[in-house]
Amino acid sequence: MTETETTTATDFIREAIAEDLASGRYDRVRTRFPPEPNGYLHIGHAKAIAIDFGIAQEFGGLCNLRYDDTNPTKEETEYVKAIKEDIRWLGFDWEDREFYASDYFDQLYEWAVQLIEKGKAYVDSLSAEEIKEYRGGFGEPGKESPYRNRSVAENLDLFERMRAGEFEDGSHVLRAKIDMASGNMNLRDPIMYRILHAEHHRSGDKWCIYPMYDWAHGQSDSIEGITHSLCTQEYEDHRPLYDWFLDELAIYHPRQIEFAPLNLTYTVLSKRNLLKLVQGGHVRGWDDPRMPTLSGMRRRGYTSEAVQTFLQRIGVAKTESVVDIALLEHCLREDLNKRARRVMAVLRPLRVVITNYPEGQVEQVEAINNPEDPGAGTRTLPFSRVLYVEQNDFREDPPRKWFRLAPGREVRLKHAYYITCQEVVKDEASGEVVELRCTYDPETRGGSSPDGRKVRGTLHWVSAAHALDAKVRLYDYLYTKADPYEVEEGHDFTANLNPDSLQILTQCKIEPSLADAAPGVPLQFLRLGYFCLDPDSANGKLVFNRTITLRDTWARIERAQKRGA
Ligand code: ATP
Ligand code: MG
Repeated sequence: MTETETTTATDFIREAIAEDLASGRYDRVRTRFPPEPNGYLHIGHAKAIAIDFGIAQEFGGLCNLRYDDTNPTKEETEYVKAIKEDIRWLGFDWEDREFYASDYFDQLYEWAVQLIEKGKAYVDSLSAEEIKEYRGGFGEPGKESPYRNRSVAENLDLFERMRAGEFEDGSHVLRAKIDMASGNMNLRDPIMYRILHAEHHRSGDKWCIYPMYDWAHGQSDSIEGITHSLCTQEYEDHRPLYDWFLDELAIYHPRQIEFAPLNLTYTVLSKRNLLKLVQGGHVRGWDDPRMPTLSGMRRRGYTSEAVQTFLQRIGVAKTESVVDIALLEHCLREDLNKRARRVMAVLRPLRVVITNYPEGQVEQVEAINNPEDPGAGTRTLPFSRVLYVEQNDFREDPPRKWFRLAPGREVRLKHAYYITCQEVVKDEASGEVVELRCTYDPETRGGSSPDGRKVRGTLHWVSAAHALDAKVRLYDYLYTKADPYEVEEGHDFTANLNPDSLQILTQCKIEPSLADAAPGVPLQFLRLGYFCLDPDSANGKLVFNRTITLRDTWARIERAQKRGA
C-alpha cells in the first residue's frame, strides 16, 4: 500500500455508528455539517466536513448542509456563498439538502410557547449584566431571577409582545426553567430568545426576537431527522441541555457524538480571531494566502487532495492535541511533487553574458515537464547569449562545498550547457555584482560533456530576451510562535504576528511558457519551491504565490558545516 492510499480506518465515531445500526437504534445514517455563516471556513472546518460527509457516505447515508443562522448581526450572504464553494472544493455534495435554521424559526417559536405552557420557560426582565451576575460561577450556585415565577399567562403575553416588537433590545429574554444550581452552567436557565431589532439575511425583518444557538441547534437536528450529530468536544457540556429540550418537547432524538477539534502549530483557527485579522488589516482578506481558511489555502496553491490526505492521516480522536503544521506541509509537498509542472523562474536575477555565444543566436533546448509523470511530456526553452541566473547562486568568495557559480568555476545550466565564470562585473559606486561574464562549452549541450568531466552544480536560468516579468509573493508563517496564543498578559495573539510573513519580489524573470499559467495549476519553480498564479494577475501582469518551499538542502549543509567547524 502506498502512503497516500485511502484506508477506511475506523475510529470511535464509526464504531459507535456501526453499533447503532447493528442494534437497531437507527436504521440509516443522516449527518449534517452545521456552519454558522459568520466567516469563511478554515482547515478545522475541513476536518468536520470530512467527518460529517465522509462518514455518511461510508455508511450509505446522507449529509445535510445546514446553516446555523441564528445571529442576524454577524451573518452575511457572502459567507453563505463562500462556504458552499469550499465544501465543493473538498469534493463533497449536499445535493438538494441545503437547509437553514432560520427556516425553522416558526417551529421554534411554537415549541417555545409549548415550553412556556408547560411551565418550563419564562420571560426574564433582568439586564444582561444582572443575568450574568445571577448565573454564579463554577462551584458557586447561581441565584434565581425574581421574574422566574411569573405565571404562564403573563409569560405567554410577554413573549407574544416580545415577538410583536413592543420592547427594546435587551429589555427581556426568554429562558428555560431548569436549575440555577446545576453543576453544568449550561443548565442554569439558559437563554432561549433575545430581542434583536435587526435585519436577518434570509428572514428580513419578519422577526425581532431570535433563538439562541443552543435553543436552535438540537431542534434543527431533530427536524431534519439527523441520526448522528457529530460535533467538536466543546459541545459535550451542551449535550445535557440539548437532551433536556428534546425530552421536554418529546420530539425525535438524534445522538450527539463529540470529537477533538483540529489545532495546528503556527495557526489560529477561530473565525472570531480570523475576522480580527481581516478587520485589523493584518492580512488582505479572508482568502489571503497566509490564512488557514480554505479559500486562502486554495489561493496559495493547496490542492484539495493534499488537504484530504492530511485529514486522513490525523484521523479522529476524542482527546484534543496540536498537530504539527509540518505534517500538513508534508502532505502538500507529496501531492504537488506528483502533479506540478517543472519550470524555470529566477526570483532575484543576476545577468550572465556568454561571451563566446554568437550575438543574435537563439536555440531551443528541450526540457521535461515532470520527471514524476512521464505523460506530462516536454517543452522547449529558448537559450541565448544573455541569461539570468539567481543572485544567490553566485559567490565571489565561495565557502567549502560550494558547487554553484564563483570566479573560475564551471556549472551546468539545466537542460542547456556548461558555463564557466570568467569575469565579475561590479557597479562602481556600490560594489554590487551586476553581471557575470562567462564562456560556454558548445560540446555540453543537453547537460553532459563528451570527456565526462564532473560538474556538480546545476543551476536554473532564463533567457533575458525571452523571459517574462513577474511579481512573486513569498509567504512565511503568520506568527513567530508555534503557539500563537502564548502571549504576555494584556496582549492577544496579534502580538505574535510575524512582520515578515509576506515578502514581495517585483523583478522576477520567468520562462516564456508561463504566459499561459492559470490560478489553481501547481508549478514547481526548479530548485525554489512550488508556486501558482495568483488571481491578481491581469493584462499580462503575472503574480505568483509561493505555495511552499522545497526542502532547503543548502541550509542543511551549512548547518552541518557549522556544527563540524
Ligand atoms: P470557530 O471555532 O472557528 O469560530 P465555529 O465552531 O464557531 O468555528 P461553526 O460554524 O459553528 O464554527 O462550525 C461548524 C462546525 O465545524 C461545527 O460542528 C464545529 O464543531 C466544527 N469545527 C469548528 N472548528 C473546528 C476545528 N478546529 N476542528 C474541527 N471541527 C471544527
Ligand atoms: Mg462554534
